[in-house]
Amino acid sequence: MTALNLTGDHLGSAPSSVSTKPAKSMPEVVTADSVAAFRAAPKKVLSFGLGLDSTGVLLSVLDNPADYGIAKDFSDFFVMTALTGFEFPDTIAAVQKHVLPRLREKNVRYVQVARAGPRDGDGVAVVSDTTNPGKMFSRGPWTLMDELEANGTVPQFAGDHLCSLKYKAWPQDRLQLAQAGGETVGKLFGYNADEHRRAAKANKHQTRRDKEAGTQTFALDYPLIRLGLDREGVKGFVTDKLGVAMPKSYCPVCPFSGVCSPQPDHLERLRKFPSLAARVLRLEYVSMALNSNSSLYKDDTLFRRVTDDQNNDALGEFAAGLDEQDWSVYRLQRAYTAGRRPECRTAHGDRCAKPECRDSSIKGTVYRSVKTVRTGSRAEAGAFLDNAAVALGRPVEHSASAHGAGIDRVRTRVRPDAKTYGTAEDFYVAAPAGVQDKARAGFATVWAQMTAGKKTGTAPCEES
Ligand code: SF4
Ligand SMILES: [Zn+2]
Repeated sequence: MTALNLTGDHLGSAPSSVSTKPAKSMPEVVTADSVAAFRAAPKKVLSFGLGLDSTGVLLSVLDNPADYGIAKDFSDFFVMTALTGFEFPDTIAAVQKHVLPRLREKNVRYVQVARAGPRDGDGVAVVSDTTNPGKMFSRGPWTLMDELEANGTVPQFAGDHLCSLKYKAWPQDRLQLAQAGGETVGKLFGYNADEHRRAAKANKHQTRRDKEAGTQTFALDYPLIRLGLDREGVKGFVTDKLGVAMPKSYCPVCPFSGVCSPQPDHLERLRKFPSLAARVLRLEYVSMALNSNSSLYKDDTLFRRVTDDQNNDALGEFAAGLDEQDWSVYRLQRAYTAGRRPECRTAHGDRCAKPECRDSSIKGTVYRSVKTVRTGSRAEAGAFLDNAAVALGRPVEHSASAHGAGIDRVRTRVRPDAKTYGTAEDFYVAAPAGVQDKARAGFATVWAQMTAGKKTGTAPCEES
């Protein structure tokens, strides 16, 4: 049986049967000091993301705890998974069938956690915490899709995957720190040898966080990087150990390459689970109704990809769902403020309200307000939009250019162009119901300033 060997200088070599990256390509994300700090931590945890890579680390720890400085009876070690609430069912089933028995056999504590609600103040829900885990849960009280559907947005990237930070990292870190009693927690990550950058980023984040805390909160370790094991190498190891290839773990709604599978694999998986694909198609449709540019992929839609892939089950379920579910007419207002000139930041510091310091070619902040005006059947929402168009003296614009299924809007305020800031837009749009009324803090003030003296109408029955 193949084994991952981490003894000796802790930068041990991988078994010859698995593919590895040459050691010279490794940046300094793992050092003798970082390994020593991990081993010295009184409590150690594996962030188990349900995928191939962290499964590889887990199997190695279970076989050779001493290699990691972990007690033979695993009394100083536990495994933790944060449930995003939207996984492919074959991932859940494979973990339950092939991984949980191994945890039970060795009496290893396994904790499944999730966000308890949309706000950090809602806390973390412990869905399961046991050394005898029998069930792999698919969700907790509040999920990533709950949030995306309530906001009518797709996952966002802003220098980082915000969804991953919020639904994976945050619940785990919070609980681990709460249980650590101020002591350093040793944390194993399943980043493989192709993921040096992720590890480097995690280290940077940790350094910043330790500085803020004035102590080392987590000691991070990346065994697969130490071994130079790339994805293929881990796949060989896990398949050898379990007798099956573990399916990749990610949310069906994931738009990010490098996290989500390569597209052909992903589209094949969506063919296997058309209902999940239909749910994501619905989300993308709502998201694009509220913002034409907000497709799942940059410059491309899931709708087009699934259509090209001839996934007719998913498309049929998506189309039937549109006809059967409630629709709403939403009012969307967006104020795009102009950004500050660079010299303003130098001269006036973090805050400055002088209008002359703004440049309309620089993007500032976008203040969005979404409000449900009317909810009913699809036909009722369509009729309401038609009536609103007549009352406002504006046309119903039917657009199929951005989304193939077509989106109907009535615009009452149009931006001159997408690159001029200090401008506002205002429109009514019909889309499936469920998006919660929400306005960014400060919206009302900014909107009032930006639209002062430029009145437009409101739809009948809407309070203005
Ligand atoms: S798999 Fe993708 S969508 Fe899901 S949390 Fe991670 S980055 Fe976000
Ligand atoms: Zn200024």
